[in-house]
Amino acid sequence: MSRRLLAVLAALATFAGITVGAAAPATAAPRILYYDASQAQEFRAVVDQGASIWNSRVANVRLQPVPAGRTPNILVYADNGWPRTYTTSLGNGRWYMGRQAVNQGYYKPRIAAHEFGHILGLPDRRTGLCADLMSGSSAPVSCTNANPNSREASTVNANFGSSSARVLVSVGEFHDFQ
Ligand SMILES: [Zn+2]
Repeated sequence: MSRRLLAVLAALATFAGITVGAAAPATAAPRILYYDASQAQEFRAVVDQGASIWNSRVANVRLQPVPAGRTPNILVYADNGWPRTYTTSLGNGRWYMGRQAVNQGYYKPRIAAHEFGHILGLPDRRTGLCADLMSGSSAPVSCTNANPNSREASTVNANFGSSSARVLVSVGEFHDFQ
């Protein structure tokens, strides 16, 4: 066997080893939820920010802008009322970026991430703590935390995981930015 052929075989073996190593334990692909922020008016960017926050904190679900020709799971609107979410099932529904809370000074990315949190199956928890995303407006108006805490993130991962530890979301459930 030539020296050159040996080198090629060695390179192939190394390549194969790397490929096998990278293919290691199979994890389920995240569930993709498409959102449509085209009617969120001046809040389109903050809606994207709310989605990015969740995408950086959970592995089992991804929030993505809806591609052309596809039906969105989530519709986002803006109006002069209080921010609120209408959930039709886990991962599906619509929510409103309400200017009433924005005008009172509540942090817009926190509102957006909170409302997405309802779509992802989290209820309101009026703990008054800024560290809790789902404490909503029970936390001080000065609260600028827009990230779910570890318990909130793990609940969402469980909701979209393969285990049976899911939070039941009833059809037509309503939450506001309480
Ligand atoms: Zn809420």
